[in-house]
Amino acid sequence: MASLGRGVMGYCFDYRGRLACDGCGIAGGVRKRKCAYKVAYPGYSIAYCSPPALCSPCYKKYGGLRGIHGDACRDGAAASQAEIAADEARSAVGDLRLRSALRQGDKVLLKFDGDIAVLVDDYEYGKVRWFLDLEDYEAA
Ligand SMILES: [Zn+2]
Ligand SMILES: [Zn+2]
Repeated sequence: MASLGRGVMGYCFDYRGRLACDGCGIAGGVRKRKCAYKVAYPGYSIAYCSPPALCSPCYKKYGGLRGIHGDACRDGAAASQAEIAADEARSAVGDLRLRSALRQGDKVLLKFDGDIAVLVDDYEYGKVRWFLDLEDYEAA
Protein backbone atom coordinates (compact mmCIF):
# COMPACT_ATOMS: atom_id res chain seq x y z
CA MET A 1 0.00 0.00 0.00
CA ALA A 2 1.16 3.51 -0.73
CA SER A 3 2.38 5.38 2.26
CA LEU A 4 1.65 8.99 2.81
CA GLY A 5 4.50 11.37 3.41
CA ARG A 6 3.05 13.31 6.29
CA GLY A 7 4.03 16.91 6.67
CA VAL A 8 4.17 18.12 10.24
CA MET A 9 4.12 21.79 9.34
CA GLY A 10 0.40 22.17 8.89
CA TYR A 11 -1.84 22.40 5.87
CA CYS A 12 -1.49 23.85 2.41
CA PHE A 13 -4.08 26.03 0.76
CA ASP A 14 -4.56 27.15 -2.81
CA TYR A 15 -4.79 30.79 -3.87
CA ARG A 16 -8.52 30.81 -3.07
CA GLY A 17 -7.87 29.64 0.44
CA ARG A 18 -9.15 26.13 -0.13
CA LEU A 19 -7.51 23.26 1.68
CA ALA A 20 -5.08 21.38 -0.57
CA CYS A 21 -4.69 17.61 -0.56
CA ASP A 22 -1.57 16.30 1.22
CA GLY A 23 -1.45 13.48 -1.32
CA CYS A 24 -1.78 15.16 -4.71
CA GLY A 25 -1.84 18.88 -3.91
CA ILE A 26 -5.17 19.51 -5.57
CA ALA A 27 -7.60 21.75 -3.69
CA GLY A 28 -11.36 21.38 -3.55
CA GLY A 29 -13.30 18.55 -1.94
CA VAL A 30 -10.43 17.99 0.46
CA ARG A 31 -11.21 17.04 4.03
CA LYS A 32 -9.18 16.53 7.16
CA ARG A 33 -9.25 12.82 7.89
CA LYS A 34 -9.41 12.50 11.65
CA CYS A 35 -7.53 9.80 13.49
CA ALA A 36 -9.58 6.81 14.58
CA TYR A 37 -7.63 6.52 17.81
CA LYS A 38 -7.88 8.79 20.81
CA VAL A 39 -5.72 9.31 23.81
CA ALA A 40 -7.59 10.10 27.01
CA TYR A 41 -6.04 12.47 29.48
CA PRO A 42 -7.62 13.20 32.83
CA GLY A 43 -10.58 15.36 31.92
CA TYR A 44 -10.27 15.36 28.14
CA SER A 45 -9.22 13.29 25.16
CA ILE A 46 -7.57 14.12 21.87
CA ALA A 47 -7.04 12.36 18.56
CA TYR A 48 -3.74 10.50 18.52
CA CYS A 49 -2.31 12.18 15.42
CA SER A 50 -3.06 15.29 13.45
CA PRO A 51 -5.40 14.59 10.56
CA PRO A 52 -3.99 14.62 7.02
CA ALA A 53 -5.95 16.64 4.46
CA LEU A 54 -6.99 14.36 1.61
CA CYS A 55 -9.28 14.41 -1.39
CA SER A 56 -11.54 11.41 -1.91
CA PRO A 57 -9.35 9.64 -4.51
CA CYS A 58 -6.26 9.98 -2.30
CA TYR A 59 -8.21 8.91 0.77
CA LYS A 60 -9.12 5.74 -1.08
CA LYS A 61 -5.64 5.33 -2.51
CA TYR A 62 -4.07 5.39 0.94
CA GLY A 63 -6.52 2.84 2.27
CA GLY A 64 -9.19 5.00 3.87
CA LEU A 65 -9.47 5.39 7.61
CA ARG A 66 -7.69 2.15 8.51
CA GLY A 67 -4.99 2.72 5.93
CA ILE A 68 -4.13 6.22 7.08
CA HIS A 69 -4.66 5.68 10.78
CA GLY A 70 -3.64 2.07 11.00
CA ASP A 71 -1.47 -0.01 13.30
CA ALA A 72 1.04 2.78 13.93
CA CYS A 73 -1.72 5.02 15.27
CA ARG A 74 -3.29 2.19 17.28
CA ASP A 75 0.04 1.20 18.84
CA GLY A 76 1.10 4.78 19.37
CA ALA A 77 -2.18 5.66 21.04
CA ALA A 78 -1.96 2.57 23.25
CA ALA A 79 1.62 3.45 24.24
CA SER A 80 0.63 7.04 25.04
CA GLN A 81 -2.33 5.77 27.03
CA ALA A 82 -0.11 3.42 29.04
CA GLU A 83 2.30 6.27 29.73
CA ILE A 84 -0.52 8.48 30.96
CA ALA A 85 -1.82 5.71 33.20
CA ALA A 86 1.68 5.19 34.61
CA ASP A 87 1.98 8.93 35.23
CA GLU A 88 -1.37 9.01 36.98
CA ALA A 89 -0.38 6.06 39.15
CA ARG A 90 2.85 7.81 40.07
CA SER A 91 1.03 11.02 40.89
CA ALA A 92 -1.42 9.06 42.99
CA VAL A 93 1.34 7.78 45.26
CA GLY A 94 2.66 11.29 45.76
CA ASP A 95 5.52 11.60 43.28
CA LEU A 96 5.88 15.14 42.05
CA ARG A 97 5.48 15.74 38.37
CA LEU A 98 7.25 18.39 36.33
CA ARG A 99 4.77 21.18 35.60
CA SER A 100 6.80 23.81 33.83
CA ALA A 101 10.30 24.73 32.75
CA LEU A 102 11.60 28.24 32.38
CA ARG A 103 14.91 28.99 30.73
CA GLN A 104 17.17 31.32 32.70
CA GLY A 105 20.41 31.90 30.83
CA ASP A 106 22.19 28.54 30.61
CA LYS A 107 20.04 27.11 33.41
CA VAL A 108 16.46 25.93 33.48
CA LEU A 109 14.10 26.51 36.37
CA LEU A 110 11.97 23.39 36.81
CA LYS A 111 8.71 23.66 38.70
CA PHE A 112 7.11 20.56 40.13
CA ASP A 113 3.77 19.83 41.77
CA GLY A 114 3.46 21.48 45.15
CA ASP A 115 5.34 24.61 44.05
CA ILE A 116 8.74 22.96 44.34
CA ALA A 117 11.28 24.65 42.09
CA VAL A 118 14.75 23.43 41.16
CA LEU A 119 17.36 25.14 39.02
CA VAL A 120 19.24 22.68 36.78
CA ASP A 121 21.77 22.88 33.96
CA ASP A 122 20.29 23.10 30.52
CA TYR A 123 21.41 19.62 29.46
CA GLU A 124 19.75 17.99 32.47
CA TYR A 125 16.38 19.43 31.64
CA GLY A 126 15.41 16.87 28.97
CA LYS A 127 15.99 13.97 31.37
CA VAL A 128 13.72 15.15 34.14
CA ARG A 129 10.01 14.51 34.26
CA TRP A 130 9.62 13.90 37.95
CA PHE A 131 11.10 15.38 41.04
CA LEU A 132 12.29 11.92 42.07
CA ASP A 133 14.06 11.42 38.74
CA LEU A 134 15.99 14.55 39.50
CA GLU A 135 17.07 13.13 42.87
CA ASP A 136 18.13 9.91 41.19
CA TYR A 137 20.08 11.89 38.70
CA GLU A 138 21.82 14.01 41.32
CA ALA A 139 22.62 10.97 43.42
CA ALA A 140 24.29 9.23 40.48
ZN1 LIG B 1 -5.46 14.07 -3.43
ZN1 LIG C 1 -3.81 8.58 13.31
